[in-house]
Amino acid sequence: MFFFFTCGTHTFTSRLKGAESLTVQCQNCGNFSGHVYKRWEWFTFCFIPVIPFSLKPYKEVGCHICNFYQDIKYRPDVQQQMSWGGGQEQGGVMMGPPGGGHNNGWGAAPMAGGAQHPQYK
Ligand SMILES: [Zn+2]
Repeated sequence: MFFFFTCGTHTFTSRLKGAESLTVQCQNCGNFSGHVYKRWEWFTFCFIPVIPFSLKPYKEVGCHICNFYQDIKYRPDVQQQMSWGGGQEQGGVMMGPPGGGHNNGWGAAPMAGGAQHPQYK
């Protein structure tokens, strides 16, 4: 009888959906070369991922120049840019009422004119 089984880990890494085009500053080397990645480590048995180490994938900001990876929870600026990008379905936002959707029709162009002058004279 000969058993051959291998245990190990496998890490799934991909660009985070909704933030593929986002480029942020790396806090290690200062270049605007950081991208948002999703990383999920799994325990493998015979090269088959069976158990995840965590319930959810990590979200990281990774820099390909200095190879620096940082958890996105330390980067509120990046999280803010991601919410601007329209990824509303991510569910990572803790605040706000669960049924709130009143802001959808407003705030479309707050940066357009700057001064909000009245319509009448
Ligand atoms: Zn860097």
